[in-house]
Amino acid sequence: MPTFAFFNDQFVPIEQAKVSVMAHAFNYGTAVFEGIRGYWNAAHEQLYIFRLHEHSERLLQSGRLLQMKIPYTASDIDGLIIELLRREDYRTNVYIRPLIYKADEIIGVRLHDLQDKLTIFAVPFGRYIEKEEGASVCVSSWRRNDDNALPPRGKVSGGYVNSAFIKSDAQLKGFDDAIVLNQDGHVSEGSAQNLFMVRGGKLITTPITANILEGITRATVLELARAELGLETQEREIDRTELYLAEELFLCGTGVQIAAVTSVDHYRIGDGKIGPITQQLRDLYFRVVNAEVEKYRGWCTPVY
Ligand code: PMP
Repeated sequence: MPTFAFFNDQFVPIEQAKVSVMAHAFNYGTAVFEGIRGYWNAAHEQLYIFRLHEHSERLLQSGRLLQMKIPYTASDIDGLIIELLRREDYRTNVYIRPLIYKADEIIGVRLHDLQDKLTIFAVPFGRYIEKEEGASVCVSSWRRNDDNALPPRGKVSGGYVNSAFIKSDAQLKGFDDAIVLNQDGHVSEGSAQNLFMVRGGKLITTPITANILEGITRATVLELARAELGLETQEREIDRTELYLAEELFLCGTGVQIAAVTSVDHYRIGDGKIGPITQQLRDLYFRVVNAEVEKYRGWCTPVY
């Protein structure tokens, strides 16, 4: 359990950070949020927050989609998150969850002219899925919510009911997770992760117009693959059967980090083990997030 939260514009004991059953966000899903990781580097005796400012900016961008107004800039949110972690005095890996939510206690569904509030909490956190070295996934029978219905580009709380349908359906069928298609039948992403495939030695991911969340890990992987592994990368539409024929496949995101997918709909990917490119990217990613690669230290904000 965390000890503190940022709530109603101040730091309070976590027990005091409570919203009403009448809150608009609770009734209609009108909140936006972020998931951010902090990595404890024992050798440095330091907690590093990965790409903090990009997450704060994306939180505000999601808020803009929901016509939210709060009196905090992205840099203010960075500062509040650092202050919260200092108060918690965490010396372990953590997951940080800021939210902006519509706080009015009224009946009536809309976006405009409502009161928006910022809240932040952080919890110790390990793995998001157990089998990061080789997950077995299916293609979901659910489709991703569309930009014209409930835009996945915004990290909107209500939109995650779609992710919940996808994840439960997959797990109750015995898979670890699922890949989801668009309304038009092309691949979108994972239940709550972006997707990469290796085909013909190229690293390929779905475009930002495929109803994906524009992932910060996705951007990180694209940059590391080009700059450090010298790989050719492509952002293009992916068909379902390309997944079955891929040499390698992985899901990526703040929570899942880089998780190899070794089967899709019972088709074995590659030789059924984590592939060489995925392995290299994964090893590099863990060194980068732990502030062990000088060139990318700027992505890691020290808390202490
Ligand atoms: N897609 C969805 C739907 C997600 O919820 C997430 C997790 N935030 C991602 C992709 C990955 O995004 P990021 O790398 O920024 O965590």
